[in-house]
Amino acid sequence: MSTGPMKLGEFPAFLDEPDADPACRGQNTDLFFSDKPTDIDAAKAICGDCPLRIRCRRWAIDQPTDKVYGVWGATSHADRKAIKRRKNSGRQLGVAA
Ligand code: SF4
Repeated sequence: MSTGPMKLGEFPAFLDEPDADPACRGQNTDLFFSDKPTDIDAAKAICGDCPLRIRCRRWAIDQPTDKVYGVWGATSHADRKAIKRRKNSGRQLGVAA
């Protein structure tokens, strides 16, 4: 995995749990931190088979946007920003998120 100038950000602690079996383990993690749409789609496809997908997505959405990069729980950084925008606009309108 390249650790060049790309931002990796925070990682969820549950990935270190002994019984965690993330689908991304052993995969090319560069896909998860790439800006290329084909890489992002490939990473999302890996997440699609992951038993931790929902937990991972919730974790990523709950983190500050500027602390978590890449694909987590089949969402890209841009996806999560859009989800947060929608949630926030719903709150401002008094709509349950
Ligand atoms: S949902 Fe995706 S990023 Fe999260 S642990 Fe599973 S494979 Fe890895």
